Amino acid sequence: MSESFNIVRESFKGPFVGRIIEGFPYPAKDCRYCYSQLILEQAVHVQGQEEVYKALFFCHNDDCPAYNEPARKQYAKVYYSCDEAFDRLEMLRIMANQKTR
Ligand SMILES: [Zn+2]
Repeated sequence: MSESFNIVRESFKGPFVGRIIEGFPYPAKDCRYCYSQLILEQAVHVQGQEEVYKALFFCHNDDCPAYNEPARKQYAKVYYSCDEAFDRLEMLRIMANQKTR
């Protein structure tokens, strides 16, 4: 689980970080383990087409059964606004990773 978490984090690095748009109608998501509302941590939008985006949510409940105390890992969820977002933003991630190496 910790490995997949790091992959999630990794996919939000690079030139697409820090694009949470204020006032944007992000969906409310609940943790599948403790049903707390997840906190939006990061979002990546397609430029000029902001409705196409992916968002990273974390569970911030310390009592969450998915929370791993020693490793400080939380439940994380990646949300894609549509199939197009998945196709385009997954591709962006791959390109970004190749650029930095
Ligand atoms: Zn939780």
